Amino acid sequence: MKRKMKIEDLSRPAQQLVTLEPSDLLPLPPPYDEPRPLKELTEEQRQRYEASLDGIVGLGVTKPANAQEEEEFVAKFLSGLKKLLSKENNWTFIQPLLHSLDYCVKCQLCNDSCPAYLSSGKQEIYRPTFRPEVLRRIINKYLKKENSLLARLTASNIELNFTLLARLAELAYRCSLCRRCAQVCPLGIDNALISREIRKLFSQEMGIAARELHEQGTVQQLKVGSSTGITPKALANIIAFMEDDIEEKTGRKIKIPVDKEGAEVLLVHNAGEFMAWPENPQAFAILFDAAGIDWTLSSQIAGYDAVNYGIWYDDVQAARVAVHHAEAARTLKVKKICVGECGHAHKAILVIADRVLTGELNIPRESALPLLEHLVLSGKIKLDPKRNDFPVTLHDPCNMVRLMGIVEPQRKILRAICPQFREMEPHGVDNYCCGGGSGFAIMQSMNFPDWRNSVSARMKMKQILEAFADVSEPAQNKYVCAPCSNCKGLMRDMFEFYGATRKSGIFYGGLVELIVNAMVDLQKPFLTWEQL
Ligand code: SF4
Ligand code: SF4
Repeated sequence: MKRKMKIEDLSRPAQQLVTLEPSDLLPLPPPYDEPRPLKELTEEQRQRYEASLDGIVGLGVTKPANAQEEEEFVAKFLSGLKKLLSKENNWTFIQPLLHSLDYCVKCQLCNDSCPAYLSSGKQEIYRPTFRPEVLRRIINKYLKKENSLLARLTASNIELNFTLLARLAELAYRCSLCRRCAQVCPLGIDNALISREIRKLFSQEMGIAARELHEQGTVQQLKVGSSTGITPKALANIIAFMEDDIEEKTGRKIKIPVDKEGAEVLLVHNAGEFMAWPENPQAFAILFDAAGIDWTLSSQIAGYDAVNYGIWYDDVQAARVAVHHAEAARTLKVKKICVGECGHAHKAILVIADRVLTGELNIPRESALPLLEHLVLSGKIKLDPKRNDFPVTLHDPCNMVRLMGIVEPQRKILRAICPQFREMEPHGVDNYCCGGGSGFAIMQSMNFPDWRNSVSARMKMKQILEAFADVSEPAQNKYVCAPCSNCKGLMRDMFEFYGATRKSGIFYGGLVELIVNAMVDLQKPFLTWEQL
């Protein structure tokens, strides 16, 4: 239920602060308008985990067994917070963090940009400035206490205790780090960065991180080769299978190059593609082969997995993964790394990695999208748009589009090869996050998937339905083009949750698949609805 909330309420170990009622949520059009209560935690889960923020557990902070454990928890947090605010210990992000903490004027212009806040029916705790303000008040009261009158005036009566901190940790996992709020802020405040830095503090200093991002994510990736668990040996089998499948589908015998020394391009996919959507790396292989591109995949640890979940929660893990990516390219002596259809991998390899890759590890790195644009618009590959004559809309992955400004290549391609292409509104740099950003798409803890689909992804679901409103009958198949593995993961679960394929004939897939589907010299269509 919506109720007025004060920042200091977070430190009051009382009842659950917020209960999300279906009637509060952003309305969806029929037949998606049936109220659907969010899944409740079991009594056992409530006993074990701190869930009194909103009754949802994404992170799963276990309750301390006694007063001493609680004291240690608080002390660790404070010591981590001091590090977070020191240049020596946080050289990566200290400047934008301090700017964002110090210069917000609380104008609240950013509120209505946030999909989680709007989708939840404007729940106070999801407001973009709410969690930064909690952190600010802790800093003012506990780290600047000897300081000015201003610090004392702005500190309020917030109390540093386990409940407050566990709620804050969960709250950092209710923001998908989409940075839509940063886009509208007149002062360049990045509230997403503050959420990310809170996650970092909990991970690096307290060993608390989402299992799917840490143990099953970066740790597994650095140990076995990929965050999916695919080892180099398993990759070889998958590639052999993909070659057979390409031949069966297209009649073409294509050898997918692996570990080719000195190649022009090292193509790195999110390894999730090999498992869940092999048609995407297959389509890259068909297109690159047809275009005569000198390319290769790598079979080194992390060299075949562009994932870098570290950018969502932990600098140390982010740096380790980035170095492995660069090492894979350096060993193969390739000219450049090209990132496939994965949004956060774009940010990790092309933007964040700049902070750690120096000297011979600073290998040229670029997005695959401009290359795809060139292949389509140059006329090098013969394409027939009639092969894609069904309604198509485009989802803009936040990291590629809002963060990096890669806006036009993907839509120029779709305008050229999909006669029924239509935009979502808003789109481009004003897009809404799919709802799966920052790890949400893969986080499966307890009732978190229910929150993700009901709240975080709700705005995207609404946008997709609106984009296809004129062709809503289920008999008409439609395609949401999402050039990002995480966004596709979100859509797979979201469409299942809402029954979108059954009720409205909505499917999803990548970009390169549409290009290959339009290739005139392929005898059969590359895309089959049954396989989507
Ligand atoms: S983050 Fe920017 S837009 Fe939001 S309240 Fe602060 S100053 Fe205003
Ligand atoms: S980054 Fe996105 S989800 Fe997070 S507060 Fe800003 S707009 Fe909301």
